[in-house]
Amino acid sequence: MNNFDPANTAQSLAVVEFSTTGFAEGVNSKRQKILSKNLELKSFAIKDFEGNKDDQEDYIANTMATYKKNLTDRSEHQLGTKADNIGYPCNLEYDYKNLNQLLCFPINNIGDPFTDGNFGIHSRPFEVGVLDWFAEFMKIEKNEYWGYVTSGGTEANHHGILTGRKMFPNGILYASKESHYSVAKAIDMFSMKWVQVETQVSGEIDYHDFKTKLLANKEFPAIVVANIGTTMKGAVDDIDLIIQTLKESGFSQNRFYIHCDGALSGIILPFMTCEEKVISFKKPIGSASISGHKFIGCPITCGILITRKDYINFHSRNIEYIAPRDATIMGSRNGHAPIFLWQALNKGGYKWIQKQVEECLKNARYLKECLSKARISAMLNEGSIIVVLERPKDEEFIRKWQLACQGNISHVLLMPHVSVEMLNTFLDELIAKRLTWYKDESILPPCLEVDIGKENCACALHKC
Ligand SMILES: *Cc1c(COP(=O)(O)O)cnc(C)c1O
Repeated sequence: MNNFDPANTAQSLAVVEFSTTGFAEGVNSKRQKILSKNLELKSFAIKDFEGNKDDQEDYIANTMATYKKNLTDRSEHQLGTKADNIGYPCNLEYDYKNLNQLLCFPINNIGDPFTDGNFGIHSRPFEVGVLDWFAEFMKIEKNEYWGYVTSGGTEANHHGILTGRKMFPNGILYASKESHYSVAKAIDMFSMKWVQVETQVSGEIDYHDFKTKLLANKEFPAIVVANIGTTMKGAVDDIDLIIQTLKESGFSQNRFYIHCDGALSGIILPFMTCEEKVISFKKPIGSASISGHKFIGCPITCGILITRKDYINFHSRNIEYIAPRDATIMGSRNGHAPIFLWQALNKGGYKWIQKQVEECLKNARYLKECLSKARISAMLNEGSIIVVLERPKDEEFIRKWQLACQGNISHVLLMPHVSVEMLNTFLDELIAKRLTWYKDESILPPCLEVDIGKENCACALHKC
């Protein structure tokens, strides 16, 4: 029973279902992002067995077995199985089984990671170890940074944006329209003024538009979110150019705050040679975030927030009840997540991440090339592991390959578990299906000029 044996599954139990209805996200309806797999769960009811222990235990075991089977089906990444996850940024390449034994402890890192709270069952030594690693990674001295392991990239973004807001209460937030919806959410939660900046076709911020908008709002300080890898296209804003644009527009260093959203690519870019796009506190940035469950592959959703130690006074309150400083957004915090991160970073270290990054980039280039050869519209930004391609016409195909879609485009994420074999199967299937989708001459593949540029578009007009 302890193993949730799927063989014990009672067929009558509810199965976790994925609906194919899309949903809109974000504050601004113009930037609706339609994901095709809005998770719709039939619930597993809490039942009263009126003291019948056997029935109760059977019910729990059967439910878990059903659920485990479902998880296995959805995350299986070997070939020849039903689902192949190539569309979402979660790394399935890790093994944390040895940490099962920690699940019997209610580990809680409530409050500040750097002060000892009253609650003894915490994992702060792991958390600070992980934070030190990321601080070094982002080129900030140990005694100059502050940070914590958050519940995800979103909370880390919120913390960074809130620091900017506290520093400049009348500041205006500038973020490109390709920013993650967590930015819009923060703007809404913190009642901030927002100026949305246009993007280039690649998804990178449009520096001319940024400058025009800065000049139009010169009297207010600027709080800027730099996208270090946009969600859809993997485009990276150039931090140096953002700073240069601010300065050229008359914003001195004491009138701007920059938060870098590096959810996926923040950990990838330093392993390539493009200094201007790497998150570095040697530049005048205020904070940065990276998701722990994306490239690093932590099975518990989490994120990392790093900021300058001086800035934390904008947040701190001393709370007698919990003793530590209160500078985090959440109160109780997951104490298991930092241990998983610690293990992942210790097992692999720099060399291993480097190897994975190189492999992912190679596969991304391979997929892009194959798509182009097959005359399928596709784009790959420099230093990105996201291949943007035309949205497949068939919802069933999208669901099978777990592809996130937005308008006419979708994308494939070349995470470390995505092999060349998987890509070949994906390509063969896509090419075969397209022959059926577009066999009638009157239905043509969409033109993607505005989404990915003429040079990447393979529609009837642009045929590259
Ligand atoms: C995924 C993502 C986030 C949010 O991260 P979560 O960990 O899902 O909260 C933020 N920004 C970007 C660019 C992302 O891709």
